[in-house]
Amino acid sequence: MELSKKRRRRLQSVVDQDYGYRQYEDRDVYVFDQGGKLGCGVFAARQFLPGELVFEIKGQLIPAAQYDGSTYAMAFEDNWFLEPTIPGAFINHSCSPNCDLIQITETSNGLIATCNIEPGSELCFDYQWEAQDWIPRCKCGSKNCRGWVVAESEVKKMKRLVGRNKKAR
Ligand SMILES: [Zn+2]
Repeated sequence: MELSKKRRRRLQSVVDQDYGYRQYEDRDVYVFDQGGKLGCGVFAARQFLPGELVFEIKGQLIPAAQYDGSTYAMAFEDNWFLEPTIPGAFINHSCSPNCDLIQITETSNGLIATCNIEPGSELCFDYQWEAQDWIPRCKCGSKNCRGWVVAESEVKKMKRLVGRNKKAR
């Protein structure tokens, strides 16, 4: 589904307002604002073992047909978005993540550790977004970083999109 940049930005500002309260901490995870461009992230408050459920990501389920989703929204089943509450909303993307998303109930995703995670490590998963105009550059810093926050299979398309935009300017 294609989303205009303007609409994205407007939705994002609405969600940012709603999520103005960025404090979160429990026995398992905490939200920490790294400042600058890195922004907020979710960090492990304890060790997690591979396959362990880190936490359940709950939120509001919204039919995709009526809503484009904020940049926090996660695709959910066929035609739904999950608009996660804190701390789920602040999990960052990485091209070599330490977690994966798995649907665990009819209305929620689980963040599952895919490797051993030490306390203090940032928790992230692979967003696997489709290539679109508004997709940001990836700052995950991993060796195999794809350059944008898109799925591996979408990198070629993303490069084409960026190339096209440069010519248009
Ligand atoms: Zn990356």
